[in-house]
Amino acid sequence: MTEFKVPFIDLQQRFIEEKAELMACVERILSQGHLVMTQEVFDFERRVTEFTGAKHCVSCANGTDALMLGLWALGIGKGDEVITTPISFIASTGSIAHVGATPVYADVREDQNIDPAEIEKKITPRTKAIMPVHWSGRIADMDAILDIARKHKLAVIEDAAQSMGAYYKGKHGGTFGNIGTFSTHPLKNLNAIGDGGFLVTDDENLAKKIRLYRNHGLQDRDTCVMYGVNSRLDSLNAEVLMYRLGRLNEVIGRRQRNVDLYRKKIRAKEVHIPADKQYEKNSYVMMITQSERRDELQKFLAGRGIQSLVYYGTPLHLHAAAKRLGHKRGDFPKAEHQADRVLALPHHQQLSEDQISYVADTVNEFYGA
Ligand SMILES: *Cc1c(COP(=O)(O)O)cnc(C)c1O
Repeated sequence: MTEFKVPFIDLQQRFIEEKAELMACVERILSQGHLVMTQEVFDFERRVTEFTGAKHCVSCANGTDALMLGLWALGIGKGDEVITTPISFIASTGSIAHVGATPVYADVREDQNIDPAEIEKKITPRTKAIMPVHWSGRIADMDAILDIARKHKLAVIEDAAQSMGAYYKGKHGGTFGNIGTFSTHPLKNLNAIGDGGFLVTDDENLAKKIRLYRNHGLQDRDTCVMYGVNSRLDSLNAEVLMYRLGRLNEVIGRRQRNVDLYRKKIRAKEVHIPADKQYEKNSYVMMITQSERRDELQKFLAGRGIQSLVYYGTPLHLHAAAKRLGHKRGDFPKAEHQADRVLALPHHQQLSEDQISYVADTVNEFYGA
């Protein structure tokens, strides 16, 4: 389907690899004749708690809903401020805006994650929560963030959409704050066959509240105790996710190998790949470089049949949607500097060493390295 010799991601190849198991999932779910809120959903939630070490997991329709459900359950709304990062997918900020709160940005560090020192400067009497994003599968500096949260009595909701299978000092992403939210979009490491998401928490009351809210506030079929929404994970996706969660560590292992090879083979000094600290275990959802003359490099790669993507060229404070926040270029210099340089290279578990060598050689050739 793709004209690229080295495509960015290869979901068709993945299907070939997993076909027998996936078709068995379809067979099991369709033959039992129930597709919504069946035991598979609850089994998957329990399995997530075992994997992450969190006490509770509530699944939902997607990672954006997980963020919104989490913010809502924390009581965040009109008049409140939530401190977050300008380097993320739009949903981190979008969810804050949608519960009626105001997103307040703090600039990032060299590794693209929110800078705790910048968070402290942004705290006002209206600040209610901090939302770090574990960008590209590297956990933000949670020790420092939790210290600030404790000191100022703020809630912490981690956008852990990209950090299933990622750890910081031995603890799983999403389990540091009050709530951690995850996405199982097809481009994440643990992915469904379509949209899906879940959140984790150690707080039983929050879990109960969200469990009700995601399913119309229905305690049972005939008893509605509050008005909620419909944000459920489909049974078929729960079954597929259960199977894929069993393979997640193997998938991350292959992705780690890709990144190690890229690091070894790319010699060009113009390409910066943030190093992993010894206490970080990255989930390597994306292989994001910060490259000089990024746009030219991308064209050069495309000319050689290599697909690369800019994740993302616009920091969140500079989108048209953020206009009412009144930001301008120059407000978050590190994030802006990175947005001008980021380029994600092909990176998926079906990539061969030959393909990685070809990409790395082409990058080196572009810079004359
Ligand atoms: C993917 C992603 C989301 C949104 O998840 P969806 O399941 O697509 O709604 C939110 N935040 C980050 C950082 C993401 O990468």
